[in-house]
Amino acid sequence: MLMLKRCAPHFPALLLFTLAVSLANAQKAPIQITADLSDAPRKLFHADMDFPVSTGPVTLISPEWIPGHHMPSGPASSIVGVVFTANGKPLEWRRDDVSLYEFHITVPSGVTTLHMHVDSIVTRRISQRMAALEWEALMFYPAHVPVKDIPIQPSVKVPAGWGIGTALKPVSGGAYPVPEAGSTTKFAATTVEQLEDSPILTGLYFHEYPLAPTIKPQHYLDVAADAPEDAKLRPAVLADVANLVREADALYASHHYNEYHFLLTLSDVAGGMGLEHGQSSDNGVGEKGFADDVHQLPESDLLSHEFTHSWNGKYRRPAGLYQPDFATPMQGALLWVYEGMTEYWGNVLAARSGLKNAQEYKDVLAMTAAELDYTRGREWRPTVDTAVGASILRGGNPAWSNWRRGQDYYFEGEVLWLDADTLIRKMTDNKKSLNDFVKIFLGKGGNTGPLIVTYTFDELVQDLNQVVPYDWATFLHDRVDKINPHVDVAGLEQGGYKLVFKDKPTKSERMMSAAEGRRAGGVDCWYSVGLRLGADGTIADVLWNGPADKAGLAPGEKIMAVNDNVYSGDALREAIREAKDPAKTIKLIVQADSFVSTMQIDYHDGERYPALERVDGTPAYLDDIIKPLTTPEKAPEEKKEDAE
Ligand SMILES: [Zn+2]
Repeated sequence: MLMLKRCAPHFPALLLFTLAVSLANAQKAPIQITADLSDAPRKLFHADMDFPVSTGPVTLISPEWIPGHHMPSGPASSIVGVVFTANGKPLEWRRDDVSLYEFHITVPSGVTTLHMHVDSIVTRRISQRMAALEWEALMFYPAHVPVKDIPIQPSVKVPAGWGIGTALKPVSGGAYPVPEAGSTTKFAATTVEQLEDSPILTGLYFHEYPLAPTIKPQHYLDVAADAPEDAKLRPAVLADVANLVREADALYASHHYNEYHFLLTLSDVAGGMGLEHGQSSDNGVGEKGFADDVHQLPESDLLSHEFTHSWNGKYRRPAGLYQPDFATPMQGALLWVYEGMTEYWGNVLAARSGLKNAQEYKDVLAMTAAELDYTRGREWRPTVDTAVGASILRGGNPAWSNWRRGQDYYFEGEVLWLDADTLIRKMTDNKKSLNDFVKIFLGKGGNTGPLIVTYTFDELVQDLNQVVPYDWATFLHDRVDKINPHVDVAGLEQGGYKLVFKDKPTKSERMMSAAEGRRAGGVDCWYSVGLRLGADGTIADVLWNGPADKAGLAPGEKIMAVNDNVYSGDALREAIREAKDPAKTIKLIVQADSFVSTMQIDYHDGERYPALERVDGTPAYLDDIIKPLTTPEKAPEEKKEDAE
C-alpha cells in the first residue's frame, strides 16, 4: 500500500485540541485570493486575501520549498507592501524570528475575516505583453497545516484584452472568454496544494490550441508571445505536439489530470524555463524557439519532459521530495528517477512524436554521453551526491564545473534508464521494455485526477522485477551510489551503437550551436584541448586534467593570441588541426587578471566531436525505442517562408 506523508506538528495535547477546533471552525470557508496582474508590464503583481479566522493568534506563511525547484526558492524576499486589516482597521504583524516566511498576527475579538494585501516584485516569466503567475509569488495560508487540507478560492484580474490559459476551472464552467477591461475571473475553490500547482498564463498575443481531440481528457496548448506572429505556431509543430499527446497516452496508458494545459511563452525577455505541474506545465522558450528546425532542436524535449512529469514527479513522487507544507526541507536522493527518468522519456517521446528526428535524437544522445564521460568530478563524487546536493548545485560559479559536477542526475538518469530499457529488451528478446515498467510504476490506481502518491527505492525495484526478474537493486546501486569514473555506455551498446569521436561536429551539434549562437558565440574544444571559450576568448571552463589544464590555463583567463595570430575561434581550431603534426605546438598569449603570459598546449589529436556509430550485426534496440507507438498526425503543407 502507498502512504502519503503527513504533517505531524508537535503540540501539547490540550493546545492541539484547541487549535483543531479553531481550525475546523476557521477552515469551513475557503481563503479568498484575488491576484491582480494588471500591473504586469511594470513587473508588479498584487494580491488581496481574506482568511476566515477566530479571535486570537494566527500565523500565516508563504511557500519556501517549491515543488519542481527542489530547493528553498520561495519568493519571500520579493513580497512587499504587506498590510493586514480587520473590519477595515490595520493590524500589527511580526515576522517569525526563525522561519522568515511566517507572519504572526493577533486577531481582535469579534473578527471573523482577516484581510491581507501584498505586492510582489516580479523578475521572471514576465514581459510587456505577457505574464506567468506561479501562485507562490502571492499566496499565504495558515502555517503548520497540511496544504492539501486548506481550501482556497482563486480569482485573477489581467490587463484588458489579455487571454488566460490555466488548468484552473472557472466557476462559470466552460472556456475562458477574453476578459473585459478591469473584470475579474473567478475560479472554482481548490486547495492550497493544488493552487500552488496551477499556474496562470496571460498575454496580449494569446492562442489556445486544442490538441488531439480523440484523446480524453482534453489537452490544450496555450501560447503567449511577445510578437503576434510568434504566437501562431507552425502547423508542423502543432502536429508534433498533438503526436506527443497521443504517444504519451499510448505509453503511460493512464492519466492523472482532469484536463492538461501546456502553457508556453515565446519571448526573449520572459525567460527560458520549464516547470512541471500535475495538470499543466509552465514552459518558456525564446521568441523564435519554434520558428524553424534549428531553433526547435534545443527545445525539442521541453514539452515532452514537462508533460512526463505529470506522471513521473507529480503523481508518483519520491517520499523525500513530498512535503506536506512547503516549509519542511525536501530530500533529493531519488532525483535520478524524478528528473533522470523524465529526461529519458522526454527525449524518447520527442523522437516518437517528431519534435526531433531519429538522427537528431542519436546525435544529442552522443553529446550527452560524451559530456558525462568528460565530467571529471565523477572521479570523486557519485551521482547520488548530485541528487542529495541538488539545491547547492543549481547556478553558481561555472568555473571548474566539470570537477565540481552539476545537476548530473538528469543526464546520468537518462543513460541509466536507457541501460535498463535495453537490458530488459535484451533479456526478453525485445518482447518487453521500459514501456511495460512505466505502465506499472506510473499507472497504479488507473486514471485519477491530480494526486500525489509517494514511493521509495524498494518499490522501484519491486516494479522493475514485475517486468523481468533481475537483481535491480544492485543494478541501480552500482550506477547511482558508486564512484564511476566513466559514463555508463551499456545502454548505447545494448542498443546497437557505440560512442565515437570524429573530427567534425554532427549536423545536430552544428544546429545546437547555431541556435544558441545568438547569446553565446563561443567555441567548444572540450574533447580536444579541453576548453570552452566565449566569443572574445575568455575561458568559460577548463577540462580538469585535460591538455589545457596541464598547460596551466584556468577559467576566467582570456586567450589573446594563438600561434602569433590575434585570437579568434577559427584561429584556435586551425591551430588544433595543425598540431596533428607532432612537430607543431599550440602557442598562446593569455591574460590572467592584469598579467600576460605565454603558454603552450601539448596536444596532437586534432579536433574531436562526439557521435554515435552503428555496430553492425547487433540488435538496433535504440532504433526500436524511438519508433512511434501510434500513427503520426500529418502536418498540413507548410509554407517555406519561415527560415531565419
Ligand atoms: Zn524536470
